[in-house]
Amino acid sequence: MSFPSTLAFAHDLVKGVLFPGAYAVDATLGNGQDTLFLAQGVGPEGQVHGFDIQKEALDRTENRLHQHGMVNRVTLHQNSHHQMEQILPPKWKGNISAVMFNLGYLPKGDPAIITKPETTIHAFSQALKWLAPGGILTAVLYTGHTGGLEEAKQVLNYIKTLKPNVFHVIQYQTLNRHHAPSLIAVQKSKKHPPDEAR
Ligand code: SAM
Repeated sequence: MSFPSTLAFAHDLVKGVLFPGAYAVDATLGNGQDTLFLAQGVGPEGQVHGFDIQKEALDRTENRLHQHGMVNRVTLHQNSHHQMEQILPPKWKGNISAVMFNLGYLPKGDPAIITKPETTIHAFSQALKWLAPGGILTAVLYTGHTGGLEEAKQVLNYIKTLKPNVFHVIQYQTLNRHHAPSLIAVQKSKKHPPDEAR
């Protein structure tokens, strides 16, 4: 046994809450790896909505989904993730099994286009509200790029304020490597109705 990578651990956690017919959100499409993973997890009856502000990310994701025959399960939006409340189908509120964030910039894309703390935290609060009881939000945070450390600090500060009787929050990170990515995972309690979420 060896410890899983940050991304592999995120997938392991999310796999545990997906089921055929589930709803899931990829909040940062990038190359579409998480989108494909979510589309596979929700099965032919399920649905995934994905967000990215760059057309290039939507194109890369669409290509990947095509290659795997998964296009029909996924709706892509060229919008910021903090607009998800206005865009997701209303019936998804309180019924989303998993929302995945992978922060930072598009690999092999423009490194100046990065996720920003204000919009990231705004999107987190919406995603947490829309999660189903028992649903999971994951976020991979990077600190090696300009702006990454500040974003990670602000996200961690926000996440630590979540009510412990409603959300269980964990962090997973290699501690003896410089700028190792960090995984934050938040699970909404199975016992609390959605209106108790902050
Ligand atoms: N999960 C992706 C994958 O599997 O390949 C990697 C995501 S990449 C590290 C981060 C992405 O976040 C970039 O494609 C970037 O364009 C996108 N992004 C930046 N700001 C955003 C925002 N406000 N809303 C949605 N996506 C955003």
